[in-house]
Amino acid sequence: MRYAALEAYVPGEQPRDKAYIKLNTNESPYPPSPEVIASVNAAAMEELRLYSDPTCRLLRRKIADRCGVSEENVFLSNGSDDILNFAFMAFGEKGAVFPDITYGFYSVFAALHGVPTRVMPLREDFTVDPADYLTGGRLTVLANPNAPTGLALPLPEIERIVAADPDRVVVIDEAYVDFGAESALSLLPRYDNLLIVRTFSKSRSMAGARLGFALADKALIDDLEKIKYSTNPYNINRLTQLAGAAAIDSDEYFAGNCRRICRTRERTTASLKELGFTVLPSMANFVFASSDQIGGEELYRRLKERGILVRHFDKDRIREYNRITIGSEDEMDRLIAAVKSILS
Ligand code: PMP
Repeated sequence: MRYAALEAYVPGEQPRDKAYIKLNTNESPYPPSPEVIASVNAAAMEELRLYSDPTCRLLRRKIADRCGVSEENVFLSNGSDDILNFAFMAFGEKGAVFPDITYGFYSVFAALHGVPTRVMPLREDFTVDPADYLTGGRLTVLANPNAPTGLALPLPEIERIVAADPDRVVVIDEAYVDFGAESALSLLPRYDNLLIVRTFSKSRSMAGARLGFALADKALIDDLEKIKYSTNPYNINRLTQLAGAAAIDSDEYFAGNCRRICRTRERTTASLKELGFTVLPSMANFVFASSDQIGGEELYRRLKERGILVRHFDKDRIREYNRITIGSEDEMDRLIAAVKSILS
C-alpha cells in the first residue's frame, strides 16, 4: 500500500481490563451541560434518517456570534484533528515547521501528505523561542498552550510570529486555550494568514462527539471547505451539531468547569511540588511533571498497577516526565495518595 512506511499516531491507551482513573487523554472529568444532554433526544434520533447539514448553519452562526466574527470566518469539522489534517493538506506545499516537543499528530499529518518538515528544538526550559519561526515561508504550527508541556506563549510573541511573514499560514492550535492562556482571536482582523483551531473535546466535555472549529480569513476557510467537500461533506453528524449548538448556549456552565479544573490544577501542582516533583507552570487541563526520586516510565507503570492512567512519552528530552490530566478533586487526591505510597 502507498502508506506502508507511514508511522501512524498512537492515541492514549483505553484499557478495558478494569476501571481506571483516566488521566491520560485530557478529557474533562465533568459531563456536558444539562442542555447538551437534553438536545440529543428521541426526536433528534428519528431525524438520523436524514443527512446532516453540511454547512452546519446553526452551529456556525452561534460560534461566529460567540467569537465576534462572520460566519464566513468559521470552519467546522469532525474534531480538531480533522482540521489540522486539512491544514497540512491545504497549506503545506512549501513544508512545515513546528517544535520538537509538541502534539504528536503534526508530524504524522506531515508524513501522510508528504510535507517536508523542519523541527525546531524548544529551549532548555521547554519554552518556544519565537525567533525560530520568523522566516522560511513554511506552514507554521504551534499549539498554544503547547502539549504536553502546558506552557503558553504570550500574545505579543504569537503576533510577532504571525506578522513576520504574511505569505505563510500560521496555525495556532488552541485546544487548551480555555484553561487560562490568551487566545489569538484578537489578531484575526489584522492577519489573513492566521488560522486558529479549537475543539469541543476539552473545556466543553465533548471529546466523544468529535467537534472542532477553525477561525480565519475567508480565503483560508474556503480552502478548508474545498477539502471537506472533496472528502466527506457530512462529517459532522446531526447529534453532534445539536449538542454543539447547545454547548455554545451553556457557556457559563463550561466556564465554571474550567475555573474548577484550574483550581484543581493549582492544588495538584502544589502537592506534586511538595513531593519533590518538577512541575511546569501549566495553562492547560494537564500538568507535565518529573521526579528525581523515580523515573518517568516507572512512575507511569506503578500508577497503572494502582489503577491510575497517566501519559508517558518514550521520547528524548521528556522521558522522565509524565503528562497528568486534571481530573476531579477526588481523582487528584487519589493520584497524590498513590504517588506518596509509591515514593515511600
Ligand atoms: N490539538 C492538541 C494540542 C491536542 O492535544 C488534541 C487532543 N489530542 C487535539 C488537537 C485534537 O483534539 P480533537 O480532535 O479531539 O478536537
